[in-house]
Amino acid sequence: MAIRSGLIRRASLLGAYSLVLASPIGLDACRDATAPLPDNAVRFVPPPVYARWWTIVEACSGHTGDFAAYTWYVAPDNSLRNNAAAYTEVAARRIVLESSQQNAGSIVRHEMLHALLGPAYASGTSAHEHPPAYFQGRCAGVVYCPEIGCQDAGAAPVMAPADAPTLPLSALDIQMDVLPDRVSRTGVDRALTLIVRVTNPSAEPVWVQLDATPDLPAPWVHWYGFRIVPAVQTVPITGIARDDSAGVITRDSVRRVAFAAGQTRQLVFDLSGALYAPADYLAVGIFNTRQVWTPFTIVP
Ligand SMILES: [Zn+2]
Repeated sequence: MAIRSGLIRRASLLGAYSLVLASPIGLDACRDATAPLPDNAVRFVPPPVYARWWTIVEACSGHTGDFAAYTWYVAPDNSLRNNAAAYTEVAARRIVLESSQQNAGSIVRHEMLHALLGPAYASGTSAHEHPPAYFQGRCAGVVYCPEIGCQDAGAAPVMAPADAPTLPLSALDIQMDVLPDRVSRTGVDRALTLIVRVTNPSAEPVWVQLDATPDLPAPWVHWYGFRIVPAVQTVPITGIARDDSAGVITRDSVRRVAFAAGQTRQLVFDLSGALYAPADYLAVGIFNTRQVWTPFTIVP
């Protein structure tokens, strides 16, 4: 009997990009699937961005796997049992997505995490299938982890003991990666992935105190985000609080963030090159009051 895991109920994603870690809207559940491959599921060749997403999930999970070994199926919306958006069959090495989720990076990466975690987490309760150490810990910011079934699997792990030393925000190693750095707005592969990588350079767990951000009322502070600006624009930028297709920043009321020894948090944004006119740009990665930037180009 096939082992199934990793069912996600249909989620409403935000706007043009799927913003991971934002409060999900309209999400219902993420729980065990027992449906066979639907009659109307059609196999498809994964687009190039899937291989890039796979490497991101390998990096956050610390697990490696053979991307080419998996087969991918798409089914019409609302046709998966239990109102599922997607599910993974680890034993059969196949992932089934409903059609509206094929470009939803955080949903696809959620299924990839099931694939990479492998048989040890591919059966049993939904809680067992969604270990918080991965879905809410190592890969938080990379995969979508809805409340029911995923966050219900347990509390998010705390990466540092309460009495761990404090590291200044300025000591974090922050990088902005843009995959790929040249995107055609009309080509087959228009997916643009931004990754803000925040690393604790210390060999011990630490707490980082976030700065107050003046344009938000206490206790809220800016958490992380991005903005895309013309390459000629002066950086660092101001006006980061706008939420539109050129950027977004999340807010949090928690002022102290834990990092495990050497931990890198990957915070992923999925965009389409079709959103932007052909030009040279800077992708500005934002972590609280820190900013880093990387050039990239949109071509016709
Ligand atoms: Zn799942």
